[in-house]
Order: sequence, then structure tokens, then C-alpha cells
Amino acid sequence: MLNQRTLKTLTRAVGMGLHSGQRVEITLRPAPPDTGIVFRRVDLPEPVDIPVSALAVTDTRMASTISTGNVKVHTVEHLMSACAGLGVDNLYVDITAEEVPILDGSAASFVFLLQSAGIELQDAPKRFVRVLAPVEVRQGEGDNVKWARLEPYHGYRLGFEIDFSHPAVDSTGQSVLFDMSTGSYSKDIARARTFGFTKDVEMMRANGLALGGGLDNAIVMDDYKVLNAGGLRYDDEFVKHKILDAMGDLYLLGKPLLASYSAFRSGHALNNLLLRELLKHRAAWDVVTFDDDKLAPAGFAQLARAW
Ligand SMILES: [Zn+2]
Repeated sequence: MLNQRTLKTLTRAVGMGLHSGQRVEITLRPAPPDTGIVFRRVDLPEPVDIPVSALAVTDTRMASTISTGNVKVHTVEHLMSACAGLGVDNLYVDITAEEVPILDGSAASFVFLLQSAGIELQDAPKRFVRVLAPVEVRQGEGDNVKWARLEPYHGYRLGFEIDFSHPAVDSTGQSVLFDMSTGSYSKDIARARTFGFTKDVEMMRANGLALGGGLDNAIVMDDYKVLNAGGLRYDDEFVKHKILDAMGDLYLLGKPLLASYSAFRSGHALNNLLLRELLKHRAAWDVVTFDDDKLAPAGFAQLARAW
């Protein structure tokens, strides 16, 4: 059987919110089978749980925010991406403020945290949402067009194309294809950092965003070049970060997808619309488990052996 996974033990990290600039502590704890991933605001007089789901996403400006009533957690996508990449199904995320810490701006620190706590196989079959028919969302026209699509695929594959016209980006890859069955999430994707432009920072700060952002947790560019002294971590770090974000955004569905995702200039908003579109078409998906590991897509079956 291909099993659900949680952590062996709890693990903690302290950091700062990218947008809020607030100090925050997160504690990742094991959770029983079929719990899914549940954020718990432990700083409130009574703790409030926010289970992840496509419909819990309430704001997608610059980051993905989930909420229950008035209680929010911002910037969940990098932690969610690490959970997707390592196949963690069940987890409690206790958090002491309303934004997940940005740490180094990638998912690498979350991968390290999850791996150092250790992964535990649980006595329940891993449940996938299998896409049975193509689903697409599209916005804008001409030069402004953007789209995202899910198609049937026995595994999980993501293709992303960006279209940034900037001297520092033009020379790097503008498209990337990542397949869980042949690639390594921790090596190929997890280290890609978020990025921003100095000219946008003032505007973002005026809107109360990016208050915690800087060269320690983002690739920062002026009109001509990357300002970080160490340069890029991957030649195509920009588009790889878009794959990292998409994996996090799509994992907010609550279960791993069996699908091929492709996108052109998509972002948090369109990724969430894509999930909502999928859920609207009940005939376009079903939920499957694998009694026999050998019948499971290679990437997922191999995760168990990788540790
Ligand atoms: Zn991101």
C-alpha cells in the first residue's frame, strides 16, 4: 500500500513574516491519518484551526492567504510546497502570528525542518485527487494573457513559462518542466527563492507588503541586474520559484494531484481559480488510493525508499 505520511516528531522554527515583518514561531507536529494539513493560530485567546482547502484561500495578493472567519494565515505557499514535494499528508502547523516565516525565501528551510523531524508512514492509504479531464482557466488577452491548465497524467508533472522582460531574467531560462517521477524536489526546486524589484518595493511597503523582505530572503533586482552578492542559486531560479509556488498553491487542494499542470504567467490567484474550476467539474476528478505500491506513479512510490 502507498501510505499516508506525517512527521515522526515535532520541530520548530522562528523567523519573520515577509509581508508583515512580524516575528513568528512555527511548530510542525505529527497529525493522525486523514487530518490533512491544519494551521493553528496559537497566539489567540482560544486557538483557531484553519484546515487547508482550495475554498479556504481568501487573498492571493503577493502570497496565498487562508482563513476561517476573521482569522488568517498569510504566505502559506512555501511551507505547503515543501509538504507537497516531500509527500507529507498530515501535519499540524502551530503558528504564533498571522504570517508563516519567510526564512530564506525558498522552501529549502522547510524541507530541512521536515526531514530533520523525520517522516513516518501511517496505517492509511494515501489519497490522491486524480484529474480525469482537462480543466483550464485563462485571464487577459494579447500581451496580457495568462493561463493555467490541469490534464490527466499518471504522476505529477508541472510545466511553467514566465515572460519577464528584464536584463537579469532574459538571460536565464523562461520555462521549466518538473516531473516528480524523474526530478528531485529538494535538489531541483526547493532552493529557488522568491524575487522582487527595487522599484516595486516602495509601492508594496506603502500597501503594507514586503515589510520583512530583503537580500537575505529574496532575489532583489534593480532595472539592470541582480543585487544579491551571491548571485543566483540556479541558472533558471526565477521560473523554478514559480514551480515551487505552484506546487504550494495546488497542494492547498488538501490532497496531492495526479495530473499534468501547465501554466503561462500564472500566479497565486490563477492557481487558486484553477483548483476552484476543477472542484466545480465533479466529473473531471476522482479520489484514488494504491493498494499496490508498484501501480503508484514512480515519484510517489520512490519517496518511501528515498528515506
Ligand atoms: Zn513564492
